[in-house]
Amino acid sequence: MVLDLFKLDGRVALVTGAGRGIGQALAYALAQAGADVASVTRSGSAEETRRLVESCGRQFLDLQADLGVPEQRAGLADQVAEKFGRLDILVNNAGVTGRHAPEEYPDAEWRYLMEVHLNAAFDLAVQAAAHMQKHGRGKIINIGSVMTFEGGLNISAYASAKHAIAGLTKSLATSWASKGINVNCICPGYIETELAGPLQSDPVRGPQILERIPVGRWAQPDELGGLCVFLASDAASYMHGSIIPIDGGWLSM
Ligand code: NAP
Repeated sequence: MVLDLFKLDGRVALVTGAGRGIGQALAYALAQAGADVASVTRSGSAEETRRLVESCGRQFLDLQADLGVPEQRAGLADQVAEKFGRLDILVNNAGVTGRHAPEEYPDAEWRYLMEVHLNAAFDLAVQAAAHMQKHGRGKIINIGSVMTFEGGLNISAYASAKHAIAGLTKSLATSWASKGINVNCICPGYIETELAGPLQSDPVRGPQILERIPVGRWAQPDELGGLCVFLASDAASYMHGSIIPIDGGWLSM
């Protein structure tokens, strides 16, 4: 039956940045589909996510690391595999943002953003793939943005990193498709989270953005869950290197 293809029973997922926002919603969706879930955040505080995952009868592992610091990323996938015995799904979701005119962009902030969004995604993908290859199967889902396709305004590091994540997705997908690992990228539009709060409430940009969204509203994080479960499941067995907007029509305007 086709709906059985979407089940994730017995699978193990690592979702970065699952403490709140989109990562929390994706962790909950994966748990509802049957997966045990590990989270990585800087604060190591994901109690609400734990409650949601455990309410599905699934196990939760809370890891603490700053993904912007390479040394703190070492061994994260191993810790997940040690706890659960396997690692089937990686969602590279954790992210930060920064808004500066290009000529004023602080160098340290640019480099940190690139570490969190791009270098950590590559590092964790390589770590996870080592475990996935043991079973000849795995799913890597990167979180892009509509800024994977657009330049935005004064977000040069963010837009560069989100464009690069599409390149990383395609490159890993072609390298690993023959090993049974599917690598794809979800590109959300405007989602109501802490990260996007200042933009949504900005008296100028907030209304401008809302007016341009064809569906006429921002999304809730849980509206991304179905696509994530699909990409993490056997239903997406032939999906390799797809860059998928989920944006209320934003990119079609
Ligand atoms: P959010 O609400 O700010 O949540 C970000 C999560 O990532 C938190 O759990 C945070 O936990 C964690 N995190 C941030 N930096 C980290 C680091 N250096 N190391 C480890 N964990 C870190 O953000 P969000 O809106 O859900 O965004 C999630 C992803 O979606 C990001 O990649 C973002 O670019 C992308 N996205 C968001 C939107 C949107 O409109 N919201 C649109 C398109 C794409 P700690 O603070 O404890 O570290």
